[in-house]
Amino acid sequence: MILLPLEFQNRMRDMLREEYPNFIEAYEKPHFRGIGLNPLKCSLETLKSGLPFPINPAPFSPLSFYLPQEAGKIGTLPLHHAGAFYSQELSAASAVTVLNPQPGERILDLCAAPGGKSTQIASLLKGQGLLWSNEVVRSRANILLSNLERCGVSNAVVSSCHPDNLCTALAGYFDRVLVDAPCSGEGMFRRDEQAVQEWSPEHVEACSVRQLAILDSASKAIKENGVLVYSTCTFSPEENEGVVTKFLASHEDFQLIDCGVTFGRPATLPKARRIYPMDGGEGHFVAAMRRCSPNPCMVPEYEQRNTEKLSSAQELYMEIFKEKPARRIEPVGNLYLLLPDVLPELKNLGVIRAGVLLGEAKKNRVEPAHALFMAAAPSQLNTVVAFSHDSPQLAAFLRGEELSVEPSLRGYAGVAVDGVMTGFGKCSGGRMKNHYPKGLRNNPV
Ligand code: SAM
Repeated sequence: MILLPLEFQNRMRDMLREEYPNFIEAYEKPHFRGIGLNPLKCSLETLKSGLPFPINPAPFSPLSFYLPQEAGKIGTLPLHHAGAFYSQELSAASAVTVLNPQPGERILDLCAAPGGKSTQIASLLKGQGLLWSNEVVRSRANILLSNLERCGVSNAVVSSCHPDNLCTALAGYFDRVLVDAPCSGEGMFRRDEQAVQEWSPEHVEACSVRQLAILDSASKAIKENGVLVYSTCTFSPEENEGVVTKFLASHEDFQLIDCGVTFGRPATLPKARRIYPMDGGEGHFVAAMRRCSPNPCMVPEYEQRNTEKLSSAQELYMEIFKEKPARRIEPVGNLYLLLPDVLPELKNLGVIRAGVLLGEAKKNRVEPAHALFMAAAPSQLNTVVAFSHDSPQLAAFLRGEELSVEPSLRGYAGVAVDGVMTGFGKCSGGRMKNHYPKGLRNNPV
């Protein structure tokens, strides 16, 4: 039983009127559970056949699915390790549906951790163009990076930068910008006891001030005719219609545009959308705005600095892959990166990763990175050890154990589950040394 703050109940009663009984009834039921399919790595058929429970389509995106309540923990499932899907509050998928990123575009996700929406954006970009995922809280940016790596995203930059510094430096660079703003989290109340504890009218007010500041920064990053999408997982009008109205009043060059979707219901600003628990998700608000004024982009494209020292990384790549890399390799310190095709200058922007980590220089050799295999398809690799999702050997691999393999296998081999890459090992003498990262392993039995 959730103890909702009285003041919150009064506000919701005033706002929803005859719908209020439906709304408040939802708090006696469990929250919805959902996942997003990651088509960068996996088809819907493979996902359905590899999960131990059925999934059902949710209305907020063609990639989102309801889980049954009895689904249990999903983080330890082989296809989760493989990045075939990610856990997502289903109505949260609505923001990216409204953002509508197109392959080849430059997209900024300004408040991106833990990364559900960034992953969804990446899958819609299909590896083309650029996703810039920013998270101001550094520790949360690491989680964001880990989730994007697991999902095999190859054309992203992950940064931890203050929104205003980032958007000023990258003024006019992006086709679309998503501000999924930090909020009072009223739509999380069924899932997150802490959000209930932290709620107060003062917190709502403080959030709305911060949200307006973030939107103001975001407006700088968008090119002329580009789209800015604002979303929250809260219901308070102050943080939703209120913030959008104030933003539009001080940015006459932005126009509210229709969200172009039918799920949920119109907000008080009818072009924006609201989703409540009685609409099939925990709760979200989405508004889309178009920038109508010129915003010339002065941002230079990234210039490759260092083409020396590449041979060992190239050799390693050719040891693992059938064909030469389609992307530039860039050494950065002792790391080697496969850079996205589209990339602005990166200096002083808190960049943690650009593209895919290929490997790390160690003494006289380069060791491949887990991320390199996660972003690959089995068909691209010279050697793959393939398992089915219910294989005991795969379970042992995910616990970090050494495996027996064909004695003929030598060197680095990808490990796949149901045809989806989930890591790698090094084979010799009929054994495969496990390179599945320690922090990602399932617990020993
Ligand atoms: N979009 C994310 C996703 O789909 O996984 C969820 C984002 S969450 C609603 C908002 C994020 O904004 C949090 O990760 C929080 O750390 C970050 N944040 C907090 N304060 C911020 C600020 N002043 N500017 C920008 N982001 C902030």
